[in-house]
Amino acid sequence: VSPVVALRPGVLQDPAVVTEIERRMARAGLRWTRARRTVLESVAAAPAPRSVPELQEAIGRDVPLSSLYRVIGDLVAARILIKLEFAEGFARFELDEELAAHHHHLVCTRCGAVADVELHEFEGALTDAARTVQRRTGFAVSMHRLDFFGVCSTCARD
Ligand SMILES: [Zn+2]
Ligand SMILES: [Zn+2]
Repeated sequence: VSPVVALRPGVLQDPAVVTEIERRMARAGLRWTRARRTVLESVAAAPAPRSVPELQEAIGRDVPLSSLYRVIGDLVAARILIKLEFAEGFARFELDEELAAHHHHLVCTRCGAVADVELHEFEGALTDAARTVQRRTGFAVSMHRLDFFGVCSTCARD
């Protein structure tokens, strides 16, 4: 099984995605600003969820750190970005899956690298697992998250 990386750099060029982002912004009382667009473009172009320092490095001085925290908070509140935590002691952010694509994460416990991975061939089995959970427990599953922790190929070579 060769994992396919969920690269979606062009997601903000998709008019349907932009319309949905604008709908969520309007519902949260937010307007498009240069800073919000810059942050969204940076998150969308990344091949994995990004921490605030990583976003700041990618964006540069266009968005000062205090604004960056505020913009990210607003976009999370508007359900455009989601906040992920992998027991690293800090948060990472990515586009809400409904705006991007369903995927899982590979988290390296040695260097801290996080990568996106799509596992289409297993989603049917995961849907079956959710049905089993519901049958056994009465818990109605609406989504799943599955992240893999281990050693990345770069660290494994060293
Ligand atoms: Zn690593
Ligand atoms: Zn899945």
